[in-house]
Amino acid sequence: MSLPKDLHDLGVAQLAAKLAAREVSSVEVTQHFLERIRQQDSLGAFLATDAEVSLAQARAADARLAAGERTPLLGVPLAHKDIFVTRDFPTTAGSKMLDNYRSPFDATVVSKLGVTHGAGMVTLGKLNCDEFAMGSGNDNSAYKPVQNPWDTSRIPGGSSGGSAAAVAARLVPAATGTDTGGSIRQPAALTGITGIKPTYGRCSRYGMVAFASSLDQAGPMARSALDCALLLSSMAGPDPDRDSTSLDLPALDYATDLIATSTREQRAEPLKGLRIGLPTQFFGTGCSAEVLKAVRAALAEFEKLGATLVDVSLPLTELSIPVYYVIAPAEASSNLSRFDGVRYGHRAAHYGDLTDMYKKSRSEGFGDEVTRRIMIGTYVLSHGYYDAYYLKAQKIRRLIAEDFQKAFAQCDIIAGPVSPTVAWKIGEKSDDPVANYLADIYTLSSSLAGLPGMSAPAGFGEHHMPVGLQLIGNYFKEAQLLSAAHQFQLATDWHMRQPQGI
Ligand code: GLN
Repeated sequence: MSLPKDLHDLGVAQLAAKLAAREVSSVEVTQHFLERIRQQDSLGAFLATDAEVSLAQARAADARLAAGERTPLLGVPLAHKDIFVTRDFPTTAGSKMLDNYRSPFDATVVSKLGVTHGAGMVTLGKLNCDEFAMGSGNDNSAYKPVQNPWDTSRIPGGSSGGSAAAVAARLVPAATGTDTGGSIRQPAALTGITGIKPTYGRCSRYGMVAFASSLDQAGPMARSALDCALLLSSMAGPDPDRDSTSLDLPALDYATDLIATSTREQRAEPLKGLRIGLPTQFFGTGCSAEVLKAVRAALAEFEKLGATLVDVSLPLTELSIPVYYVIAPAEASSNLSRFDGVRYGHRAAHYGDLTDMYKKSRSEGFGDEVTRRIMIGTYVLSHGYYDAYYLKAQKIRRLIAEDFQKAFAQCDIIAGPVSPTVAWKIGEKSDDPVANYLADIYTLSSSLAGLPGMSAPAGFGEHHMPVGLQLIGNYFKEAQLLSAAHQFQLATDWHMRQPQGI
């Protein structure tokens, strides 16, 4: 049997169909992607691969297919952000602190998607990310930066930069990511792929190396909303014994409706009745003209599809930056205290007493940004400052969430840019933490509110760099977001574009 040469051009749904029809085996698909990963190693997207492990998983998937099983993801490969612990691959969270760490168990999301107990996907390896998921450019990885496949001199976004670059370069049909303050949406936007951060609690956090526990959320990154829907259907669901913050709601099938709309003849205005709210604060001078232009053109397309655009206000948007950069470091400083060289993590080779051992191990293991956040977090939680910073931030967080509810009284979905600019040059913001923090302006507020949000490719800016459109939904409305993005993707082809030369 001759293999289609460009298997990597196929998305998740198409690969799954070929596998189900037994036109191609999971072993063949896996070998094909592993070869691409080898060829494109210079992108820096992967931190670990293991062909033997992946091929063994592929054989297990093929056995299930041979036995007649037909589940929607069976045999399709993916890779995981290196923040999800995996038994079969090392897990570093992009940090020297966890160099060579191997988890004795799989994260819930990993096992739900995997071949042993789950949907039957084959793991191709672990994807680079900012250290402990702290960053916006993937230049905080302790191992290597990731290059944006659209222009290798630019960042792919962060912290799920490896996931985004790998999907955009077609090294994997899909990847997992995590989003604490934008880390799925922003890299998806900057690399021209689709990604969704579900409602806080929709996916189990068990086995995700913790950054800021009240914000961290897993989600899929792929080329299309349909492919994201397929993955999310298997990733989501309650995990009561292992993550008490996971939502007690049944896992949903996000994909079947979308597949039905793709095959049916198109209705004239499929989004008729959908009200899209545009927050004034997302369309101000803080956003670059090139991004605004692409976003507005995408919104005009939504109007053609029948949606109506309404102005809404999220007056506390600016405060989301200081609020997030108090709360997230506070939680991080607490979560990262476990890395003491005894219970977890790197231990210095030479030290004096116990305190010296902690000091040296932590100084050697953590990079600059992580250290900075631990210090900020410890400061805002300390006696005398707690009320002024941490408590105050929590109060404003509540007000930010309330503002969203007021806006949702006027609209069904909120839309705007994901990032104020296209991807910047590697190194451009490396020495300026505040410049990185400011770039998160459009993603932080919905994270603080725990709302679902996604990014869908919406065109290109001046240097032919991708621009993403952000869609934010009310709680539990992932299906509505995915369906709106899917209609947009049936009418446009931004999500099908691919970087040259890769
Ligand atoms: N850029 C944000 C930060 O550095 C968000 C990171 C994330 O979502 N993990 O914290």
